[in-house]
Amino acid sequence: MNVTQDDALAIDAGRLREAVAAIFAAAGCDEAESARIARYLVEANLTGHDSHGIIRVPRYVHWLDTGTVRARRSIRIVMDAGAIALLDGDHGFGQTIGEQAVMLGVEKAREFGVSVVGLRNSGHLGRIGDWAELAAAEGLISIHFVNTSGLGMLVAPYGGTERRMSTNPIGIGVPMPDGPPLVLDCATSIVAEGKVLVALNGGKPLPEGALIERDGTLTADPGAIYGSLDGTQPHDQRTGSAAVRAMGEHKGSGISFMCELLAGALTGGGCGKAGHKTLENNMLSIMLAPEHFGTETQLWPEIDRYIEFVRSARKAPGHDRIRLPGEPEEEMRAERRANGVPLPRKVRSSLALTAKSLGLAEVAAVFRPEGRG
Ligand code: NAD
Repeated sequence: MNVTQDDALAIDAGRLREAVAAIFAAAGCDEAESARIARYLVEANLTGHDSHGIIRVPRYVHWLDTGTVRARRSIRIVMDAGAIALLDGDHGFGQTIGEQAVMLGVEKAREFGVSVVGLRNSGHLGRIGDWAELAAAEGLISIHFVNTSGLGMLVAPYGGTERRMSTNPIGIGVPMPDGPPLVLDCATSIVAEGKVLVALNGGKPLPEGALIERDGTLTADPGAIYGSLDGTQPHDQRTGSAAVRAMGEHKGSGISFMCELLAGALTGGGCGKAGHKTLENNMLSIMLAPEHFGTETQLWPEIDRYIEFVRSARKAPGHDRIRLPGEPEEEMRAERRANGVPLPRKVRSSLALTAKSLGLAEVAAVFRPEGRG
C-alpha cells in the first residue's frame, strides 16, 4: 500500500487537511463541508489508500464545476418504514451524504436492533471502510454493498473482456470493545480504479494481469484503461479499451454482480449501463446492534479466542505475521501520522494546478514547496 517513489514528498496530515479544505471552500462548498471532505480524503491517505485520498481533489473540483456533484446537499428520505429506509443523495458529496446515511442507519439500528438503509445517487463515497468505522464507533456491526451507476463501469465479468460492472466495494465492520474495529474494506476487482490512477501517476505499479484487453490479453499497463491521458487531467475520459478484472475469478465476479443488484437495482440507483456519463455511488447498508442478539457475553470472548487461533497459524514464506482485516490500515495510520503522507510529484503538481486555478497561490505552494509552477 505504501508509496515509496523517489520523487514522493511527505507532508503532514494536518497541513494537507487545511490545504484541501481551502480548495473546496474556494470551489463553492461551505466551511463544514470543505473540512469534512478534506478529513475523509486525508484519512484515506493516512490508512494507505492513496487511491481514495487527495489524488481525487482535481476530479472532485471538476465534478463540482460540471454539476456532476453538488455542494451543500442533504439526504432526502424517499421511504422510511421502521428499520428500513431508502434515501436519495441528490448528487451531494459522498463525504456528506454517506455520513448522514450511516448515522440514520445507526439511529435505526439502536432502536430496532437492525437497520437496512438503501442510498442512491450519492456523490463518490470514497473509502467504504470509513462507513464501517463510523458505525463501529457507535458500537454497531455493519455491512455495506456499493456500486457505481455509470461512469465507474470498468470491470469485466468472469469469462468476458468488456466493462460491465464497477469496482463495487464491500465493507464489513465489527466493533471491538478494547481497540480499533475489525474492518474488511475492498473493491471486488483485482484493483480499485483509483489504484490504476495511482499507478498512472507514478505510484505503486499494478499487479501482473490486473487488467484485460478486449482480445483477452492480460496486462498491468494503466494506459490500457486511460489511453493517452497522463492522469493529471481532472476529466473522466478513459480512452483505453481494457477492463479491470474481478478479484477471485468467478467468485469475485459473482460478488461484484450481487453488489450491482443490492446497491444498484434494489435502491433504484441503477446497475451499470453503457453511455451513462456521470458517477453516482449507491450503497446498501445493513447494521446490527450486537446487544439485541443477547449473545454479547460470548461474542467478544469468542472473537478474541478466534483471533488468537487465526494468528497462531504457521506463517507462509515472506509473511512476518498474520494480519486481521483493518490492521494494515491501523499500522499505516500510525506511520503516516508520525511521518506525514508521501505524495508523488505528479500528484502534487495536479493539486498545485487545481489550487492555482482557484486563485490559491499559498495552497499551491504547500504541494510545490520547491516553488515551481
Ligand atoms: P486492498 O486490496 O488494499 O484491500 C483492503 C482490505 O484488505 C482491507 O480490509 C485490509 O485491512 C485488508 N488487507 C490488506 N492487506 C492485508 C493483509 N496483509 N492481511 C490481512 N488483511 C489485509 O483494497 P482495494 O480493494 O484496493 O480497495 C481500496 C479502497 O478503495 C477501499 O477503501 C474501497 O472501499 C475503495 N473503493 C471505493 C469505491 C467507490 O466506488 N467508492 C470503489 C472501489 C474501491
